[in-house]
Amino acid sequence: MDFLRPTTWEDALAAKAGQPDALPVQGGTDVMVEINFDLHRPAALLDLNPVRELAEWDVVDGRLRVGAGVPYVRLIEELGDRLPGLAQASRTVGSPQIRNRGTVGGNLGAASPAGDSHPPLIAGDAEIEVASAARGVRMIPATEFYTGVKRNALEPDELIRAFWTDPAPGPQYFSKIGTRNAMVIAVCSFAIALHPGRRRVGTGVGSAAPTPRRATAAEDFLSAELDWEGRGPLSISAAKEFGELVKRAASPIDDVRGTADYRRHALSVMARRTLTWAWNDYRDGAKAGKEAS
Ligand SMILES: Cc1cc2nc3c(=O)[nH]c(=O)nc-3n(C[C@H](O)[C@H](O)[C@H](O)COP(=O)(O)OP(=O)(O)OC[C@H]3O[C@@H](n4cnc5c(N)ncnc54)[C@H](O)[C@@H]3O)c2cc1C
Repeated sequence: MDFLRPTTWEDALAAKAGQPDALPVQGGTDVMVEINFDLHRPAALLDLNPVRELAEWDVVDGRLRVGAGVPYVRLIEELGDRLPGLAQASRTVGSPQIRNRGTVGGNLGAASPAGDSHPPLIAGDAEIEVASAARGVRMIPATEFYTGVKRNALEPDELIRAFWTDPAPGPQYFSKIGTRNAMVIAVCSFAIALHPGRRRVGTGVGSAAPTPRRATAAEDFLSAELDWEGRGPLSISAAKEFGELVKRAASPIDDVRGTADYRRHALSVMARRTLTWAWNDYRDGAKAGKEAS
């Protein structure tokens, strides 16, 4: 097996163009498991770790551009205040060892429906920056990045450079159901992000369909229902209807981790809970005289 070790982004793109069947490896927490279990024998490995640009993040015109190789532990420590939903999701990924190595770039590359970074990326309207030596840069909305179970929109000669998202303009929450509290793949998961400036609610549903997805009808309903100006209390009926609409957005299956019925029920509960937390935070911001939008 060839082992390619470019040290710059341009060299990485050239290496991928020259050998499109080379498998990129960042943290290796998915790739090495597959190789160790002999599930995958790539012709070559393209080690992206020496490419320093991938491990950096920046603010460009007010938006965060986070390199595909920034590990979860740094997302939590360095960006937890600006991306609270993604930081919450990152805290639930694997163990400290996995969070030290694993990255959002790798989560996107693997594109598992159960990947924990996907719901907050979708709820936060993130875009994925990908590039190839031949065709340059493409920006793909997170909602369009996942194309099937463990499939994504990358072309064979493309690599993920970064994800772009706004620093949270309002409260964000992530919730995950597992068979235990740590080291667990999601039975299902849910993320909510309030966008007060746009009077919009963002959602992301994980592990309850072939791909992570938005709950569009739930977003539309709630965005119109919430008292953004007056910051009035959330009605029980609105929270219940939101939970129902999130549940209906899912198309889960029965598998070893849970039944489809259980997943639907759990999603409606997580949707109501995270909405209540987020809306209370938004209202508290008003009470404290803080600008929450
Ligand atoms: C014990 C254990 C527990 C885990 N727990 C969780 C969990 O709780 N939640 C969760 O979501 N995941 C979990 N995972 C899966 C894994 O840790 C995550 O998917 C992680 O985000 C992968 O990141 P990585 O950098 O290690 O990816 P890698 O293993 O390096 O790569 C993963 C995939 O992405 C591709 N890739 C990587 N970088 C790029 C790039 N820049 N451009 C194009 N393709 C790229 C690779 O080719 C590969 O297909 C767990 C794994 C293990 C072993």
